[in-house]
Amino acid sequence: MGRSVLVTGGSRGIGLAIARSFEAAGDRVAVTYRSSGRPEGLFAVQADVTKPEDVEAAFAAVESEHGAVEVLVANAGITRDTLLLRMSDDDWDAVIDTNLTGAYRVAKRAARGMLRAHNGRMIFLASVVGLSGSAGQANYAASKAGLVGFARSVAREFGSRGITANVVAPGFVDTELTAVLSAERRAEILSQVPLRRYATPDEIAGVVRFLASDDASYITGAVIPVDGGLGMGH
Ligand code: NDP
Repeated sequence: MGRSVLVTGGSRGIGLAIARSFEAAGDRVAVTYRSSGRPEGLFAVQADVTKPEDVEAAFAAVESEHGAVEVLVANAGITRDTLLLRMSDDDWDAVIDTNLTGAYRVAKRAARGMLRAHNGRMIFLASVVGLSGSAGQANYAASKAGLVGFARSVAREFGSRGITANVVAPGFVDTELTAVLSAERRAEILSQVPLRRYATPDEIAGVVRFLASDDASYITGAVIPVDGGLGMGH
């Protein structure tokens, strides 16, 4: 039967690759999406992670279809890149609300069922820039750094109840999120990546699936870089 897996922001990019990878392994997978539509062949619920009522409704729908969520992948995320002096309060709030507070909302809701079951896996999608910082991404980097402290706190609070919480920190991945970068910026980034290429979404999905597997049963509070060497382990 597999496990009940929920991936937020699973309509495209990394989230979709993660969802398809769990499904191929035999799990019961649900994804949430905001506006881009249902991915074919997956159980999908429209839910904006910035809206508490959407999050509640999404969990209710997933629970009635697949049972309580056993593996949560908090993946939904956005960028609003600009230099700090040009950043509006709205740019700041939107990114923090989606990337950090959105993860808090879904983790808190998922914890209910996991605590009852004395079992659960939470995996948070952060970023290499959460640890290194990034000019023009103060809002995004702060949201991703925040996820590390959040996940480690969850790991400490729920460890004794059989729940793990880990972070995956990708470098640059070929998705719509990075398609907006200029050719010049892409070349600049690649010059700093020892593997000299972007990751594919599947390369992130493989690590997420490992963290949800029995092989990772003694890993919690970890930040796993999947960045082609860009952060050299940080
Ligand atoms: P995409 O832009 O390709 O996809 C983002 C996904 O998040 C979409 O499914 C989108 O839904 C969903 N989403 C955005 N806002 C909300 C919201 N408010 N509520 C619900 N869902 C939302 O991004 P990626 O696949 O590239 O990134 C996925 C995650 O990985 C993000 O957290 C990102 O920060 C992180 N990451 C990405 C990197 C990269 O290089 N691409 C590098 C490091 C980290 P919809 O389609 O409906 O808009």
